[in-house]
Amino acid sequence: MTQNSPTVSCPRCAKLVRWGPESPFRPFCSERCKMIDLGAWANEEYRVAVKGNDEDPDARSAGSESDAP
Ligand SMILES: [Zn+2]
Repeated sequence: MTQNSPTVSCPRCAKLVRWGPESPFRPFCSERCKMIDLGAWANEEYRVAVKGNDEDPDARSAGSESDAP
């Protein structure tokens, strides 16, 4: 009755997660944390892929310049 299941900390929210079949999303505590982590990776890749593609820094400066009265 006093069986200690090993636990891990969720990499996203540090919540304790039981390492066992009852935690299908381990080492994450939930599907949400898992998706957030996967999303972060996907986001990073997306950002890198877009960066240097056709982002014009001049366009940004022009935008703030037109803010002058
Ligand atoms: Zn979590």
